[in-house]
Amino acid sequence: MSKPVVAIVGRPNVGKSTLFNALAGEMISIVKDTPGVTRDRIYADVTWLDKEFTMIDTGGIEPDSRDVILSQMREQAQIAIDTADVIIFITDVRQGLVDADSKVADMLRRSGKPVVLVVNKVDNFEKYMPDIYEFYNLGIGDPVPISAASRLGLGDMLETVVEHFPAGSGEETEDDRPRIAIVGKPNVGKSSIVNRLLGENRVIVSDIAGTTRDAIDTAIVHNGKEYVFIDTAGLRRKSRIKEELERYSIIRTVTAVERADVVLMVIDATEGVTEQDAKIAGIAHERGKGVIIVVNKWDAIEKNDRTMKEYENDIRHVLSYMPYAEIMYVSALTGQRLNKLYDMIDMVIENQTLRIATGVLNEIMTEAVALQQPPSDKGKRLKLYYITQVSVKPPTFVIFVNDKELMHFSYTRYLENKIREAFGFRGTSLKFFIRERK
Ligand code: GDP
Ligand code: GDP
Repeated sequence: MSKPVVAIVGRPNVGKSTLFNALAGEMISIVKDTPGVTRDRIYADVTWLDKEFTMIDTGGIEPDSRDVILSQMREQAQIAIDTADVIIFITDVRQGLVDADSKVADMLRRSGKPVVLVVNKVDNFEKYMPDIYEFYNLGIGDPVPISAASRLGLGDMLETVVEHFPAGSGEETEDDRPRIAIVGKPNVGKSSIVNRLLGENRVIVSDIAGTTRDAIDTAIVHNGKEYVFIDTAGLRRKSRIKEELERYSIIRTVTAVERADVVLMVIDATEGVTEQDAKIAGIAHERGKGVIIVVNKWDAIEKNDRTMKEYENDIRHVLSYMPYAEIMYVSALTGQRLNKLYDMIDMVIENQTLRIATGVLNEIMTEAVALQQPPSDKGKRLKLYYITQVSVKPPTFVIFVNDKELMHFSYTRYLENKIREAFGFRGTSLKFFIRERK
């Protein structure tokens, strides 16, 4: 059920951030309750009509001189080509067409990726329309005039973007092989884990049609079953600029996680869990993916009978927003416990797709309510009428109540814990929507 990825590419000051913010709107607030997750708008989930997609802004830092603009744009364009399903190439009607635009347009055209050419700052359609025609010279299709600042033309632009989405994206695919993204900071051992898993199992080449991004996917057969590993370490990019590398690695993580059922969040035991790990894990959490925290290099640390518990405490503290995540202690060097990963992956996927009958859910809720009275405010007490599961991946529930305002976060958490006591749901987040029924 992976969502299409749309990347925005363009020169500095053409309005990339303005467009990004206009489209992302309040959707950004999703990350609010995930501590440690970056507020930097590198990516956002967008819903337009009935379409959902993930948007990424490839443009990061401002180049400090004219001659590096082109090389940075090429870099951005390459990231977009590597990761996106559709590229929005944005230009500026007021600056007109410049040489760097043409060069990047050539590069995008050669990539064969769908490109939507957008001309921004067309605040007044009548006044600027004659200036738009020159953008046909880029040879990447019809320019779409917009004004990101005044939100003009965005509907027409999105319509064009959506037309390019791969058929069947956002829907359940025929391919039911488990897809596992391996994410984590550089040097925690992501590639080593994949290599080790490969070494002990027969390898087959991935042949998933429709997208070039799958070039870095590795299919591994274990006990007669195929697993597809999406390795974010596979593609390394060289850059001297730290911010650019970070941006690139976040973009790669988002697009890999987006396509995965389960995320292996790799942590380096010799370093312990860090704030940077929390940011990366937050990407999987926001997206409701199954999560297994893999503490790697377990061979390289001094251990006693308390070590595992101490690591667990640290992880639960730093990644406090995902108490449901499974934890494993492995070594890619010695192979310790790596084969157990498959059972864990199977279990987490089972939990992600578990459906609980409405009758059973309501029994649990009735019992929970009897044990702990729902909150009240100003003499009015919360009444819970009904709970039902509406979807999977992650399991999502709707609770009907008399007054939404009375449903405290802590009471939802209490009900979540009761549901988990009954069914486990280990390794997966659960989502709750509260609706009013008068
Ligand atoms: P970026 O560097 O490509 O991310 O560009 P920004 O989004 O930061 O925008 C650069 C400048 O252009 C800012 O001063 C914006 O206010 C302005 N800008 C963005 N979109 C529009 C637009 O539609 N019309 C006008 N007139 N100005 C805009
Ligand atoms: P990646 O950047 O996350 O893909 O990390 P690599 O797989 O390239 O590993 C980074 C370094 O850690 C390499 O020098 C590996 O040999 C080392 N390494 C990886 N896994 C282990 C492990 O389980 N134990 C030890 N001691 N070293 C490891």
